[in-house]
Amino acid sequence: MKTVKLWDKEFRISYPATEIQADIAAMAKIMSTDLEKEDNPLFISVLNGSFIFTADIVRHFSFPCEVSFVKLSSYEGTSTTGTVNELIGLTESIKDRTVVILEDIVDTGITLGKLVETLKSYQPKAVKVATLLYKPESYKGSIKIDYIGKTIPNDFIVGYGLDYNGIGRNLADIYTLV
Ligand code: 5GP
Ligand code: MG
Repeated sequence: MKTVKLWDKEFRISYPATEIQADIAAMAKIMSTDLEKEDNPLFISVLNGSFIFTADIVRHFSFPCEVSFVKLSSYEGTSTTGTVNELIGLTESIKDRTVVILEDIVDTGITLGKLVETLKSYQPKAVKVATLLYKPESYKGSIKIDYIGKTIPNDFIVGYGLDYNGIGRNLADIYTLV
């Protein structure tokens, strides 16, 4: 069994690269059928974790589309309103366009909820969501997730863009904390 040590922790392979690629191909096929009818849909990739997933899935699309990268910075506001989430990097106008969020993983859904809320304030035609990984036991959100690569248990994973304290993003396979 393939394992990897990152900092102090041991991880075991749980989702090999070949399976990841097969799930992405299946997902991309369904997405293509839906999205090729749209006028130049915009894929919005959420950094950092989604960079590899984005590169792999968009190469399956043969219809005209755009790809953009955003980051959600969270910082503590000076008032009592708590955490403020700022969307960085969206330079395209999304008014009346179909946008598709590309996420590496949806866990509690807090990040996704905030992102969808912000994007909707710019009055797009539609906001769709695609995620490679989804943890249903942890999900507390109300946003419908349109496309899911794989449903996984509520364990901590690394690899394929996902990190543990900064390292592990470069691994081609996905590993679960032992
Ligand atoms: P949420 O807001 O849905 O709880 O979490 C979203 C973010 O938390 C993801 O984009 C990812 O950065 C991080 N995350 C959630 N689960 C995992 C996990 O199992 N492993 C890693 N490395 N990051 C995770
Ligand atoms: Mg993410």
